[in-house]
Amino acid sequence: MRAVAFARHGGPEVLELMDLPKPAIADDEVLVQVKACALNHLDVWVRKGIGTKIPMPHIGGCETAGVVVEVGSRVAKVRVGDRVLISPGQSCGRCAWCNQSLDSLCPEFIIAGHQTQGGFAEYAKAREWDVIPISDAWSFAEWAAIPLTFVTAWNMLHHRAGLRAGDTVLIMGAASGVGVAGIQIARHAGARVIAVAGSDEKLRKAAELGAEVLINYQTTDIAKAVREATKGEGVDIVFEHVGAAQWTSALKCLRKNGRLVTCGATTGPKVEIDLRFFFTQQLVVTGAYMGSRSELLRCLDLVERRVFRPVVDTVFPLEDLRKAQERMEQRAVCGKLVVTP
Ligand SMILES: [Zn+2]
Repeated sequence: MRAVAFARHGGPEVLELMDLPKPAIADDEVLVQVKACALNHLDVWVRKGIGTKIPMPHIGGCETAGVVVEVGSRVAKVRVGDRVLISPGQSCGRCAWCNQSLDSLCPEFIIAGHQTQGGFAEYAKAREWDVIPISDAWSFAEWAAIPLTFVTAWNMLHHRAGLRAGDTVLIMGAASGVGVAGIQIARHAGARVIAVAGSDEKLRKAAELGAEVLINYQTTDIAKAVREATKGEGVDIVFEHVGAAQWTSALKCLRKNGRLVTCGATTGPKVEIDLRFFFTQQLVVTGAYMGSRSELLRCLDLVERRVFRPVVDTVFPLEDLRKAQERMEQRAVCGKLVVTP
């Protein structure tokens, strides 16, 4: 089968169109003909090498949508011809963490396309448990733009940060994949959204999704603009994934008793906290890593009902994955990039 994979770590140049064996399925697995797979920054980290053990040559791609073409002998419900998404987060389903809907803390938790072969190929396999049926309410490319980012944003806001109606939420990196999910989830819960992005085009996209206050960090001081928009109070929640570059500004935007939740470190992992400010203002800083299966199913239901919508920037042919990853690294993207074989 055709796949765009890498046999050594490095820059975009290590990605090559390869002819690799079609995955062989076990009794409890299904084979999916990939129709679309969305990109994430994780693909780039894994390509560069982050020390995790991965199969080589490695096929990335964590968000795969397609059609089932083969099922193992013990597969009970999924049938050939079903339209499905492969769940990006996969866990044992039996341990104490899984049974508290804290799947991503499961000792067996993996991300499809990171620790396994992903969807930047003609075919991908998964356990029956990890394929989720999808309707034709959206295209394959649109469905592929949903699962990882929405489940992460849902976990961040509803679970980790305790989002409530009436909260004011500051969304950093508002036009990114996780940002466009965060805006929609916060608005749906009755929050007021302040969006931060690096261009007016990105802020227009954030406004279309419901952001009420727009801050271009290239031209405006984020903390000052947030104080002005909140009568000097600050926000209840900061939704963060940018990392070192905007950390200090992000913390300054919190009101007393505010919560900062982060799921990423795109611009660098080391940050500082002034403890005096932290404890006197009674702030909470919390981390989030993906989300649970139940949160994913909740998000997919809301997408199905068109409460949330996918935001696809560009669909590339699979062969242009290198070009697509370069584009993502330049951060000139509103929403998601998707490839189709
Ligand atoms: Zn488990």
